[in-house]
Amino acid sequence: MDRLEKYEDWARACMHVRCGFCRENCPAYSQLQLDSYAAKGKMTILYHLLKGNLELDEAVAERIFACTSCGLCDVACGYNQSEAIHEMKTVLYDQGVALPEGYMKISTKTRETGNPYSVDANEGTAFLQSLPESKLSVADYTLFLGCTQIYREKDEIDSLLKILRAAGVSFRIPTDQICCGSPTYRVGDEAQAREQAEKVTNLFEEMGSDEILVSCAGCFRMLSNDYEVLLNNDPKFKIVHSMEFLQELIQEGKLEIRRLEAAITYHDPCHLGRHSGIYEAPRQVLSSITGVELVEMEWNRKFAKCCGAGGGFRSGRGEDAVAIAANRVQEAEATGASILVTACPFCLRNLRDGAQSINSQMKIESVESLLAELI
Ligand code: SF4
Ligand code: SF4
Repeated sequence: MDRLEKYEDWARACMHVRCGFCRENCPAYSQLQLDSYAAKGKMTILYHLLKGNLELDEAVAERIFACTSCGLCDVACGYNQSEAIHEMKTVLYDQGVALPEGYMKISTKTRETGNPYSVDANEGTAFLQSLPESKLSVADYTLFLGCTQIYREKDEIDSLLKILRAAGVSFRIPTDQICCGSPTYRVGDEAQAREQAEKVTNLFEEMGSDEILVSCAGCFRMLSNDYEVLLNNDPKFKIVHSMEFLQELIQEGKLEIRRLEAAITYHDPCHLGRHSGIYEAPRQVLSSITGVELVEMEWNRKFAKCCGAGGGFRSGRGEDAVAIAANRVQEAEATGASILVTACPFCLRNLRDGAQSINSQMKIESVESLLAELI
């Protein structure tokens, strides 16, 4: 409980105001419709935990874990409430409180198999070793591929590799598949997340890598931000997200992109936008395609609604996660665009499921898959 004490002032302040701004578009509150699922409810729980009026138990865990880690409440509130909520998850995990089942599975699967999808890690490693860039011993960049891409969205890898090869980028791919640790970190399993962070860091060191390319928003936030906190050290590598990298390649004229007549809208992944501040690069990439009209959804950039997948929510509350994604797809449809584009394979997956659940005709793509079709 010690690590929660520093949030007592925030919790007290929250208890004494009647604003409730954090409810607006909080995916957990919007879907579950109880105040206790919004940040205000969670901070009230925190206050009463610190005062000894509540105990860390399964009922508390059920409310606290119903959070996608989207950070939208931080924007609405001004206090960094999502950080306090993350700390509560970590304390609940550390105290051995039974987490809601789907959330716990992320941790146990990663501990058992090395990835949250519970696929034999040899399968991921064999796949990586089949890629020609894994045989290179030197290159300018190291491309880190995440579990969602390797085990669920291989087409996304094909698209990314097609673009990098077409642009003549010198890159190599690690021969071992190691989860970055983000899924376990978001469900409070800090020890396993640290172990993953150490393994990935050692891998990069063994490869002699300085610049790491990442195209999953969750992996990017983890490598570029959370590793410093978890490993308590200064950044050892330069972490570059594919959106900024693609923007640079296009500016340098290294990609020839065919014309596309289409209205497109862009969904900001929470880990890339709110948590990492990358809003403009993907928009510039899309705007650089001749014929494309980029139209914004009502809620965009730092106010963008969450797709509902993060923080273990998709694993813990699958139907709710898909319903939240369906809501976002409807917001995209309201723009009149025919294509909804995002920059994270995990958002892509959830948005596609959301679209399917409402029989939406909207095409859903990643920036990479869209570009790969045009080169
Ligand atoms: S916006 Fe902030 S202070 Fe206001 S109720 Fe929500 S968490 Fe509390
Ligand atoms: S981080 Fe997102 S899901 Fe969690 S309480 Fe805040 S707004 Fe709601």
